[in-house]
Amino acid sequence: MERKEILVSEEEKARQEEFAAMVRALPHRPESYHVVTYGCQMNAHDSEKIAGMLEEMGMVPAEKREDADFVIFNTCCVRENAERRALGNVTWLKEVRKQKPELLIAVCGCMIQEPGMAETILKQYKFVDLAFGTANLHKLPELIYETLNSGRQVVSVEDRDVIAEGLPVRRLRNDAAYVTIMYGCDNFCSYCIVPYVRGRERSRDPETILREAEGLAKAGVKEIMLLGQNVNSYGKGLPGDPTFAGLLKRLDGLGIPRIRFMTSHPKDLSDELIDVMANSRHVLPQFHLPVQSGNNEILKKMNRHYTREQYLDRVAKLRQAIPGIGLSTDIIVSFPGETEAQFEDTLSLVNEVRYDSAFTFIYSPRTGTKAASMGGLIPEEVSSERIQRLIALQEGLQQETLKRFIGQEEEILVEGLSRRSRQAVSGKGKHAVSVTVEGSEDDIGQILKCRIVNLKNNTLTGERI
Ligand code: SAM
Ligand code: SF4
Repeated sequence: MERKEILVSEEEKARQEEFAAMVRALPHRPESYHVVTYGCQMNAHDSEKIAGMLEEMGMVPAEKREDADFVIFNTCCVRENAERRALGNVTWLKEVRKQKPELLIAVCGCMIQEPGMAETILKQYKFVDLAFGTANLHKLPELIYETLNSGRQVVSVEDRDVIAEGLPVRRLRNDAAYVTIMYGCDNFCSYCIVPYVRGRERSRDPETILREAEGLAKAGVKEIMLLGQNVNSYGKGLPGDPTFAGLLKRLDGLGIPRIRFMTSHPKDLSDELIDVMANSRHVLPQFHLPVQSGNNEILKKMNRHYTREQYLDRVAKLRQAIPGIGLSTDIIVSFPGETEAQFEDTLSLVNEVRYDSAFTFIYSPRTGTKAASMGGLIPEEVSSERIQRLIALQEGLQQETLKRFIGQEEEILVEGLSRRSRQAVSGKGKHAVSVTVEGSEDDIGQILKCRIVNLKNNTLTGERI
């Protein structure tokens, strides 16, 4: 695909700005909005763009969904339960509308891109006023204008892989910001629906990313999180073949105190990247490296393109280059046909790597993916017993791995008041572990130096230095 076809044109952007002005001028437009977000950081950042566009249309944020004139659900469909939860909450709003007939309801995001979902919304969710997919997020002003003017349900899904630059963003935090560096995914892991709903992999132009990051640095942002489904393959198809390692090196030079990224695919984790990380000033010593399974046959069936041995080699290389690095992962249990012995290979891998944290999931069949037609579905009670064993193992190991921080200095970026005490705050250290330290609301958004003094129930406590 030509680059011009991927980028949303200036004319189209101007058109949408006109629609935004037209919505602003409508006497019966919603005054307030609330965005409900499901799923990953990508979705969270899309919601920031949705909020930015709605504010351009004159709406103000409502803290609670029941107080808003316009509620928009930004959905996820990676696992079935995420989807069920979203649809359940949408249905709940139908009741709210009985008291508030002018309430406008929209559903957007990955779930709407699923084959057949647009028809389902049209037929079974008639009370939803507007539904649109990830490919036409930038058309929100036009879609809202159409919804408000026509008074009928508007459902808009496109199958295009676009990059929309320059959308207004209302960031959730002033101290930390998401920066998307690429969209979509070409990997087609056999269990995963992302490539079908987020389209082919496409990278943003490096200069545009740098300008965005420079703007954030000037605004005093202390941490940026670079986003992509597989950041390690950044640059594919761009002129000059830029690499993720090269991009990271340039971003490191901007002086933003902390740089993180997610997610990495083990098959594309290059020595060059490890080298750049090891020699950087601001890239944090942490790595999220999803393994999914510790068994080679399952990895093959998952279409992951690496073996257990190759994965362990990457981990060893990371630890050698960046001693003490914080490591986390994603694991799926009960992939179709997974035997007890194959599951035990995952347990043994977890034992060997000793992650600081792990996100664990039971395999969820997704229509249209290769794994969904493999057969060999594992019974629910076996899956739930497996995941409990995995979680118990991980929690026990974490109690050990986190001990290495005791007595060490850490810098934490304070995210909020601690849930346990109003005289304490918590935030993430450089190694992506959560730390609680004495403090107050004034510390939120600040980087605090502390010494780790205690570990209890997998929570680290620090003392300010
Ligand atoms: N691109 C990233 C990657 O490769 O790791 C993240 C994609 S996905 C949003 C996040 C995690 O969800 C995956 O790493 C995987 O463990 C899990 N996941 C994806 N599809 C799944 C499925 N069908 N059932 C259970 N877990 C799934
Ligand atoms: Fe899904 Fe695999 Fe792509 Fe991650 S790399 S988004 S798991 S297909």
